[in-house]
Amino acid sequence: MMETPYTLHKFCLRSPTSSLPPTIISALFHPSMIPLLPTPLPLATPVIANPSFEIKHTPHKAFAMYATRDIPEGGLIHIEHPVFIVPNKPLPRDHAGYDQVGSQLPKHAFEEMMTMANCRSKQDCPSPVEGIARTNALMIELNFPPEMDASAKNYGAAFLILNRANHSCGPNAAIKWNLPTLTASMYALRPILAGEEITKTYIDPSLPRSERIAHLQENYGFTCDCQWCNLPTSSSLDSDATRAALRIRLLTHPSYPKWSTDLARADDVVLNSHFDALQLIEQEGMHGLQGIYLEEIALCYAILGDEDRFRMWAERLVRRCKVEDSKLANVFESYLGDVRRFKRWAWRRVQRKQMQGKKARALPPPEDLFSPFLLEAQA
Ligand SMILES: [Zn+2]
Repeated sequence: MMETPYTLHKFCLRSPTSSLPPTIISALFHPSMIPLLPTPLPLATPVIANPSFEIKHTPHKAFAMYATRDIPEGGLIHIEHPVFIVPNKPLPRDHAGYDQVGSQLPKHAFEEMMTMANCRSKQDCPSPVEGIARTNALMIELNFPPEMDASAKNYGAAFLILNRANHSCGPNAAIKWNLPTLTASMYALRPILAGEEITKTYIDPSLPRSERIAHLQENYGFTCDCQWCNLPTSSSLDSDATRAALRIRLLTHPSYPKWSTDLARADDVVLNSHFDALQLIEQEGMHGLQGIYLEEIALCYAILGDEDRFRMWAERLVRRCKVEDSKLANVFESYLGDVRRFKRWAWRRVQRKQMQGKKARALPPPEDLFSPFLLEAQA
C-alpha cells in the first residue's frame, strides 16, 4: 500500500504511424499534478531520422554520446520522451512505488533503463529504479500554480538516450523540457565538431572547482576530468574568479533598456561590455549564459540602426535559441523579414539628429541673439 499521496500512472502516447507501438511513460505523481498534464495526451514524437550522434561504450566513462557530424550552434541533437517521471525528493525508504514504475515499462525499455548509471548503494536506495532516478533524473518544469502544495512540485524525468550524455563544466549541449509534447530536446550550445563528445552539465558550472568536484563526487560518484577541472592551481583560481564574475555579471551588466534611451551614454558602452562577456564565456565554456548577451547585442544594433550588424547578430540569435526559446527566435525572425517591424529602429540616430537640429535652433549665433525677428520666429 502506498504510504504517500503519490500514485502510479502509465501514459501511452500513440504513435503517429499506426504500425509502431505506443511510447510508454511510467510515473509516480501527486494527484494535484494530474490536471497540469496536457489533455489529450500528445502523440509520440518520432525519432529524428539520420541522427547526428552515436552512443558508445567507453572503458573509462561507461556510456558516452559523440557527434557523428558537425552540429551547428543551437542545432537540435535529439528529442525524446522520458521513460519515467518520479518525485524529485526521496520517498519513504520502503516505498514500493519505484519498483512498480519499472514494472510498467515494456521489456526492452525496462532492460535498457536498467543499464543506466546507478551511483547509489543498495542501503541508500533499495530499489535500483530509485538509484537510477537519483543518478540520472533531470528536473522538469511543469508550470505549477503558486498555491500548489510545495511537496508536490518537484519532479525528475529519466531518458534512455539523453541520460547517456556525460557531464562537463563547460558543456557543449543543454536540454529543454517541453510540457505540451512531454519531450526533452537536446541542442548545441556552441558548434560541435564531428567526433567530439556531446556533454551537458549536472551542476551549476559557475561554482568554484573545489565545490564542483565535491558536489559531483558526492552526488554522482565521479571525479570530473574536464579541461577546466584539470587546470593547474593558479589558472584554476583565475577560472573560479571568472566564473563567479560571469554569474554576478548576469545581474550587473550595463542595462540595455536604460542605455537605449539615454543619449548621454556612449553608443558602444553596452556592446563593449557584452563582447567582453562573450569572450569570457568562450574561455570558460559557459555557453549556456550567451542568450541574453546575443539578444541585447542585436537590439543595440537595431537601436543604432546598423542593419548589417543587426542582421549578423539577429541571425545568430535565431539559430542559437530556436530550441531553447522558440518564441524569441520567432520575434527576431520577424524583424529579419523587415527590420522596420522593430518599433524603435535607429532610435538613437534619429534622436541625435533631432537634438542637433534643436540645438542649432536653441543656440543661434551671438549676433542674432537680440534680433526681434528671431524671437518672433522662435515664438
Ligand atoms: Zn569539470
